[in-house]
Amino acid sequence: MKVRDEQACRRALVEYGKRLAEDGLIEGTWGNLSVRLDEETMLITPSGLGYERLREEDICKVRLKDGSWTGTHKPSSERRLHAGIYLAREDVWAVVHTHAAGCVTFAACGKDLRVGEETFVCAAYGVSGSGRLAKNCVRALGKARGCLLAHHGVVCVGGSLEEAYEWSLRAEKMAGEWLDGAI
Ligand SMILES: [Zn+2]
Repeated sequence: MKVRDEQACRRALVEYGKRLAEDGLIEGTWGNLSVRLDEETMLITPSGLGYERLREEDICKVRLKDGSWTGTHKPSSERRLHAGIYLAREDVWAVVHTHAAGCVTFAACGKDLRVGEETFVCAAYGVSGSGRLAKNCVRALGKARGCLLAHHGVVCVGGSLEEAYEWSLRAEKMAGEWLDGAI
């Protein structure tokens, strides 16, 4: 398996965190991003820190198998969900999780969302940060590029942060278009 350059990954997480905030996909400290470093570890955004002041050294390093971590901040409370995806999908190198408004509306109804050729299945409900949510998410995701989390938000994956980010934008745009058409 490939290994990613840690410093470059930290830089990318900071950059894409800011972009997601600018694009209105995440507000305040809601939503989180991660990148897989290798077979055993991921880098993930910290818990409770606004994206506008996020720095490379604030990013946390987490072991996928047991959730143990290093860094000056506590990793995102959704780390189990991110880790679960990396353990289930060798092709995934980045995960973007947001509470973007259009996707949340779909997720509140428990509806699947069509995004181009993909179907984002809505995962069964699980409490935020729980092992059950992680399990339900991995099951709903299957081999797709993303899935919804009932009454919660959306998760997009990719071979790179850029790819996962693009799917996040695309999913939110599609959710908005479906909702506009439904009114
Ligand atoms: Zn969330």
